[in-house]
Amino acid sequence: MKYVVAPGMKDLIKESPIYRKLETDFINLCLLNNFQEIRTPILESRDLFVRSVGEASDIVEKEMFTCDDLVLRPENTAPIVRAFLTQNLENGRYCYFAPQFRKERPQKGRFRQFYQYGFEMFGDNSPQLEIEGLLLIKSLYTQWKLSDFKIEVNYLGNFEERAKYLEALKDYFKSVYESLSETSKKRYESNTLRILDSKELCDQMLIANAPVINDYLTEESLNKWNKILNLCSLLEIKVEVNPRLVRGLDYYTGLVFEVIDTSGNLGSQKALGGGGRYDQLCADLGGKSIPAFGFAGGVERLILALNLNEEKFIDRQPLVCLITNKPEILPLLVNKKNLEPKLKIDICFSPEMGFKKMFKRADRLQARFVIILAEDELSKNQVKIKDMTSGNEATFKGALSDLDLSSLETLFTS
Ligand code: AMP
Repeated sequence: MKYVVAPGMKDLIKESPIYRKLETDFINLCLLNNFQEIRTPILESRDLFVRSVGEASDIVEKEMFTCDDLVLRPENTAPIVRAFLTQNLENGRYCYFAPQFRKERPQKGRFRQFYQYGFEMFGDNSPQLEIEGLLLIKSLYTQWKLSDFKIEVNYLGNFEERAKYLEALKDYFKSVYESLSETSKKRYESNTLRILDSKELCDQMLIANAPVINDYLTEESLNKWNKILNLCSLLEIKVEVNPRLVRGLDYYTGLVFEVIDTSGNLGSQKALGGGGRYDQLCADLGGKSIPAFGFAGGVERLILALNLNEEKFIDRQPLVCLITNKPEILPLLVNKKNLEPKLKIDICFSPEMGFKKMFKRADRLQARFVIILAEDELSKNQVKIKDMTSGNEATFKGALSDLDLSSLETLFTS
């Protein structure tokens, strides 16, 4: 075949019902928690992500699909902030279930087009947003019966605290520079914080001895951090502090967190989702200074973690095929179908096919029953029904309009 789907992208056919269910579950839960659904455009200005996610982030440096000065959105926080700022509101709570695009090397759990479920909350800088967000994630995973996961958290402080920490981190990595991996050497120049995300073995030991941000937080930030941890414990939101968790995006301040799969189903791509606070982003993008907090989870990884199999989602509603070879009879079939909007009904009218071919077609469509209404049946005021599983036939004495299509099995059991 000359035309195949692009690398890292998928045609969702069999998986589609899984996506539909996850989307419905997620959006409905958010609506019950007073969120509004938001759908932003897939194309956004490149500059939006340069200003928010950061020039030196992997996303901006190498992962965006670009078209003139527009890009396919690689994430949804910046677009939602952009949309929110045009609304002139103080509070906003938005949720989405939408595709994102990143030009990454495709592998298990890593695609170039992938779906995210997520939310963004705008408000104040009390721990209310963090706690509400984490509670929502907890109810979501309880509803989906996801049990093998942990939530890692860290506190990044404000930009001044980060700058001091960054200096200490640079000093430290400079002293061990020669032992760093090649990728980390490059990151040293462009984005030192990202060395902490390295999975390379040779970096791991060095990272373990690196300074931690906690030592650079002011009293005020430490108080906020402790308040969040205390509330988590009070509300039984299980979190694990990972003092080296930084996440790869520039806009985070305060709490950052990542949901990590512990089932082993995900291979090396264990992050189910992540998020955090971004109190500066609204102002950075030219709006008022409005504190905010958000989360995004990956749908494809969730499907792997939950071990959701297409089989469980196959539409098992039996198909009834109505067939005739007479154009004059067709309106009766169409009327019947219109009277049964909840049933799965296919109409086949094709005189040139003949009944034999129409049956074959019904078989291919995996019809459970075929109902035949030809001239003969009409003149006798009866309808013929074939059970496609057993091959048995039955006759219903009466008009098609009186036949109950939802309980055709009973005609074969009595
Ligand atoms: P991020 O904001 O980059 O941490 O992304 C949030 C979540 O989206 C991750 O934890 C993953 O579950 C998912 N995700 C990110 N990139 C990809 C990708 N290329 N393919 C599939 N899922 C992804």
